[in-house]
Amino acid sequence: MPAGRYAPSPSGTLHLGNLRTAILAWLFARQTDRDFLLRIEDLDRVRSGAEAEQLTDLSAIGVTWDSAPVRQSERLPLYEDALTTLGGLGSTVEDGLVYECFCSRKDIAEATSAPHLPSATPHPSSSTADMPVTPPVSPASPPDSILPSQDPAPALVLPPGSYPGTCRNLSGSERERRRAERPAALRINAARAAGLPEGHPPVHRVTDRLNGTVQAAVDDFVLRRNDGAFAYNLAVVVDDLAQGVDQVVRGDDLLSSAPRQDWLARLLAERNGLPVPHTEYIHVPLVLNTAGQRLAKRDGAVTLADLTALPRGGWSPARVRDLLLDSIGLPAGPLDQVLGRFDSETVPRAPWTPPQAVIGPAETPEEKIR
Ligand code: GLU
Repeated sequence: MPAGRYAPSPSGTLHLGNLRTAILAWLFARQTDRDFLLRIEDLDRVRSGAEAEQLTDLSAIGVTWDSAPVRQSERLPLYEDALTTLGGLGSTVEDGLVYECFCSRKDIAEATSAPHLPSATPHPSSSTADMPVTPPVSPASPPDSILPSQDPAPALVLPPGSYPGTCRNLSGSERERRRAERPAALRINAARAAGLPEGHPPVHRVTDRLNGTVQAAVDDFVLRRNDGAFAYNLAVVVDDLAQGVDQVVRGDDLLSSAPRQDWLARLLAERNGLPVPHTEYIHVPLVLNTAGQRLAKRDGAVTLADLTALPRGGWSPARVRDLLLDSIGLPAGPLDQVLGRFDSETVPRAPWTPPQAVIGPAETPEEKIR
C-alpha cells in the first residue's frame, strides 16, 4: 500500500506550523487513498516527553495514522544495511561509495570560501528524475559543459553545507593520521556512485507539486555523522523506502534536500534490485510570525497547549484545527468530513501568518536581547 507520512523530530512541542503541515500531509495522503504513517525522527535532539506530547496533540486535532508509529532509534540495523549496500563500513573504503571525512564545520566553511579552489562542476550526463542514477558517461561529452535542460530552466539549488570533497582521496597514511585526531563522519562519493568522473557531482531533479522542478548538484553529503549517529538524509530515505512512502509532504525549508534524498533513494533501490521509486514531493509553505519570520516558540501562543490555556477561556483543539483548516481554504469540521472539499490545486503557495489576535505580536528586537 503506498503511503504518505508525517515525520516529526521529538525535540520540542509542535507549533501551529508543524500542526498545519501534519494536517496537509494527512489530507494529501487520504485524498489519494494512501495509508498515513507517523515516524518519530529521534536520532538526535530528543527532548524527554516530547514524543508523547506530539502524538497527543496530533490526535487532539484529528490527525489519525494507520499503524503504530515507528521510531528511528529502533531502526539502526536498517541504516547499517544501507551503508553496507553502498559498500561502506568494513569493506574497503577505496572501492566503496562511502568514505571517511575528518573535516570540521570550520574546515568546510574555509574550503568552500577559498577562492583558489576549483568548484565542482555538475556533470551534464548526470541523473534526472527519469534517468537511472548511474547513466553511462559519454566520452564525447566534455565534462564541463552544461547541456540545455528539457524543462524550462529549473533553478539549480545548492543544499546548505555542500561539501567540497576535501577528504575524498586521502592517502592511507593520511587517513591513519587523521583517525588518531578525531572520529570520522562517513560521506557518499556521489560522482563515483553515479559513474561520473571525479569531481563532477551528479545533477538530480525532482518535481514538487507546489514548487515545480527543483534541480541540485548532489554533493558528497554525510551518511553517518562523526558522533556515530546516522544522518537525517540517510535515515529518511531508508525509512521512506522501507515503509513504502511514495508521497512526502513537509515544510518547504526541506525543499533543497529533496534532490539529494531522491537521488539516494534511487541509488539504494537500484543496488538492492528494487524498482525505481517514484516519490511525489509536496513542500508546503512555512508559517510565519507577524514580523515575517519563521514561527517560533517566542512568538507567544503557538502550541496547542498555549492556545488551549489562553486567559479568555482558552481554545478547544477543534477550534485550533478549524483555524488551520481555514488557513488552507477549508471549512470547519473533523478532517474526514472536510476531506471531500480538499482541493490540492488551491493549497496556498504563500506562507501563512496566523492572526495576531491568536499568536500575539512578534517580539521586537529589543525584547529578544533580554
Ligand atoms: N524530522 C524532520 C523535521 O521534523 C522532517 C523530515 C521529513 O519530513 O523528511 O523537520
